[in-house]
Amino acid sequence: MSRGTLLTLRPGALAANARRARALAGDARVYAMVKANAYGHGTALALSAFSPHVDGFGVAVLDEARALRALGCSAPVMLLEGPFDADELDEAGALGLELVVHSAWQLALLAERHSTAPLVVWLKCDTGMHRIGLPPAACAGALSRLTMLPGVTVAGLMTHFACADERHDALSASQLSTLVALAEQHDLPFTAANSAALCRYPDSRGALVRPGIMLYGGSPQAGQSLAEQGLAVTQCLTARLIAINDIPAGDSVGYGASWTAQRPSRIGVVAIGYGDGYPRHAPAGTPVAVGGARTGLAGRVSMDMLTIDLTDLPAVKVGDEVELWGDTVSVDEVAAACGTISYELFCQVTARVERVVVRPDGTA
Ligand SMILES: *Cc1c(COP(=O)(O)O)cnc(C)c1O
Repeated sequence: MSRGTLLTLRPGALAANARRARALAGDARVYAMVKANAYGHGTALALSAFSPHVDGFGVAVLDEARALRALGCSAPVMLLEGPFDADELDEAGALGLELVVHSAWQLALLAERHSTAPLVVWLKCDTGMHRIGLPPAACAGALSRLTMLPGVTVAGLMTHFACADERHDALSASQLSTLVALAEQHDLPFTAANSAALCRYPDSRGALVRPGIMLYGGSPQAGQSLAEQGLAVTQCLTARLIAINDIPAGDSVGYGASWTAQRPSRIGVVAIGYGDGYPRHAPAGTPVAVGGARTGLAGRVSMDMLTIDLTDLPAVKVGDEVELWGDTVSVDEVAAACGTISYELFCQVTARVERVVVRPDGTA
């Protein structure tokens, strides 16, 4: 028996989600966000699945842009944090990237550039998230500086929403109206929408939308399932049962003896742990599925194993496959149980987990 700890990836689902984003985008261009190894799905896989359906891509850092170009991607690529220094600026220009400029120090970097080669820039405006971006009052000055620089073309204004995925979103409307006012004042296109805004706020689409998580089968709207939003599951994390132990009521399981059986219990040991990227802080009761039936963790997650309660699933045996997230247990449920978001779980799956790509006919 091989260990059988697998991340099964579905390019067909990635493509279907990109088509869904495309349909929601209307006339806006769609750039698929593929930073952090395409949210853990693999840059090459995401590139080939998304390419027929999107207009461009977004990455956080230059290495990721380089990887896209090395894979033969000639589509527009937006560098979301812009260049970090003069060398990066030159290489970004040579790779034909669209640069985000978010700070005065980056404006200075552009102003000191020796080359006059063409450079496309999105000016990032901080409309209320207070992470990166120039304050709205500084945008006019920045735009006039940028337009004076030889070779530089301003593609438009950009912002990022802080709360578009929150059930009670008190911020996006004011963020959007600040950006729209600036865009109108300077007669420039704008880009604002992440996945949640694309799904919820059609007015935020502007010239370009930047979906990420919805492409990867994380729910972009709190409390709404993927199916309700016309989205598909793109990955399943599974592992095998390697032991099953019957324990009496009152005995405890795992490190710290933190979980105690309230009844005579059947405990399954699954060959996956935090060394594979399953979150160590997943509490007892975090859902898993065996043969389509749900149960939960019992005891702490170890590096290479975790333990689950099989007391109510007497037919389950050693060697059976356990789904940590996928079709029966959504990644969003696991994330919620762990006090995190699907994004983090997707990014955390380690290299030790074997990747299996499902072919178009559904076989692995
Ligand atoms: C990652 C990112 C996105 C995509 O956000 P999702 O919530 O994953 O849709 C959009 N814009 C910027 C600037 C980003 O960094």
